[in-house]
Amino acid sequence: MIPFLDLAAQYKTIHSEIDAAIKQVIETSSFAGGVVLDTFERHFAAYLDASYAVGVGNGTDALELALKVAGVGAGHEVLVPANSFFASAEAVSNVGATPVFVDVDEKTFLMSEDSARSAITSRTKAIIPVHLFGRAMDVGWVTELATAKDLVVVEDCAQAHGAAINGSRIGSSGRLTCFSFYPGKNLGAYGDGGAIVTGNSEWAATLKMLRDHGSPAKYEHTCVGRNSRLDTLQAAVLSVKLTYLDEWNRRRWEHAQRYNQLLRDSDVVVPELPKSGEHVFHLYVIRTQRREALRQHLSARGIGYGIHYPAPLHLTPAYEELGFKRGRLPVAELLADEIISLPMYAELTSEQIEEVADAIRDFSR
Ligand SMILES: *Cc1c(COP(=O)(O)O)cnc(C)c1O
Repeated sequence: MIPFLDLAAQYKTIHSEIDAAIKQVIETSSFAGGVVLDTFERHFAAYLDASYAVGVGNGTDALELALKVAGVGAGHEVLVPANSFFASAEAVSNVGATPVFVDVDEKTFLMSEDSARSAITSRTKAIIPVHLFGRAMDVGWVTELATAKDLVVVEDCAQAHGAAINGSRIGSSGRLTCFSFYPGKNLGAYGDGGAIVTGNSEWAATLKMLRDHGSPAKYEHTCVGRNSRLDTLQAAVLSVKLTYLDEWNRRRWEHAQRYNQLLRDSDVVVPELPKSGEHVFHLYVIRTQRREALRQHLSARGIGYGIHYPAPLHLTPAYEELGFKRGRLPVAELLADEIISLPMYAELTSEQIEEVADAIRDFSR
């Protein structure tokens, strides 16, 4: 059996540090806020070469609060790639704006510049580039477009902690960049968590109030916020894991390189491998026109897999009302039918990678 993801294998390598960090929070009974949270926020910002990190309850709230603080709301349209996790669009809807789905590039799986440009209207207020599957998107054209059209940029980096483009980590741009610490992410908590990273001190201060009932100090409320704090226990876990992130990301990239080598003579399409550091392989996603058969083949061999994602966002029932019909965003639609994600985590062994690759080569014969 080779599971798709093995969080227990990771815990085994760091259990004494994790246990001690959790114990310390419990013994000091500082469960909300406090020095452990402050420390994690500072270390995470420093790791990304960003000025501020604000911990929140989850990655979806991070996106929603980032949109809110940037003034995105009712009557606005927000460009979202059609190939992403649902939350990238859900956050837009939850601030009262309308997601406008944009096609993706067939090689990188990331938002397509042409499709984004042609989706701009007079109501377009923001754009959400998603660094999907762990691949850092080169947002040069997004910056240019945002400047020309006066758009807010909120980056969705929920799958790409530590990924860099041209030597700069995603999150270091000074813009609003959102992270999720859902357990399966490259930097994952033992429960839910998220963060917004920015270079803007006013935004950071407002976000800190919004996540805590609009409250700058206990029982003072200067605006209506919500309860979306990053739990201190989770911050303690994340502080331990952060020190391993680069090493884990490096191993993921090496695993991807090994998969690509071993699958060279198979009939599946392997992902493009950018320079080490530019892709942190949250997911290793291949393509096949015989996906259903491959799924059965992998299951029969006890190999886990995932589909990320089975439907492009514009064709999910939740967004039927927006009226995007099949055929409108052809690349995202094609990918949704062909993609399949293979086991990927730092602790995968070379034997396991070979076993998965053998299974796929047998399938190709
Ligand atoms: C996981 C994820 C989110 C949402 O994060 P949660 O912490 O689960 O709320 C948003 N966008 C993308 C691309 C994700 O993968």
